[in-house]
Amino acid sequence: MAVLITDECINCEACASECPVAAILEDSNEKNPYDEKFYIKPESCVECVGHADEPRCVEACPTEGAIVWDMPYTAEFNEYYKEKNEQGIYNIRVHKKKGLMLPEIKSQPFIEDIAMSDRESHATIGEW
Ligand code: SF4
Ligand code: SF4
Repeated sequence: MAVLITDECINCEACASECPVAAILEDSNEKNPYDEKFYIKPESCVECVGHADEPRCVEACPTEGAIVWDMPYTAEFNEYYKEKNEQGIYNIRVHKKKGLMLPEIKSQPFIEDIAMSDRESHATIGEW
């Protein structure tokens, strides 16, 4: 990640098909750790860097506050993602050879202009 889907999500399905890296799972997907909302795989989300100027999922989403900022998926935040994965907030992929695909194994691009304070507070993305 990354960006994070919140409890505001209404399962409308508008975002998933817009993601250029297929990082968004619907509520019924067995890899989605939640029952009643969509889920963004943090180990896959590239914040649309190289694909669009803004996160495409946010542009598609009709619900204010359903998609918010999360920390960059980089080695600096390895512990953050490890802890949240243990808590069941994320369901990070386990690679057959490499093991848990934490950011120290493979980091992802992120939008550098976003203030860390906005990421820490999970600020809503976009203007409403
Ligand atoms: S920010 Fe982009 S890459 Fe990340 S989940 Fe949304 S559409 Fe996919
Ligand atoms: S577009 Fe927004 S409300 Fe709809 S499924 Fe995605 S995150 Fe949830």
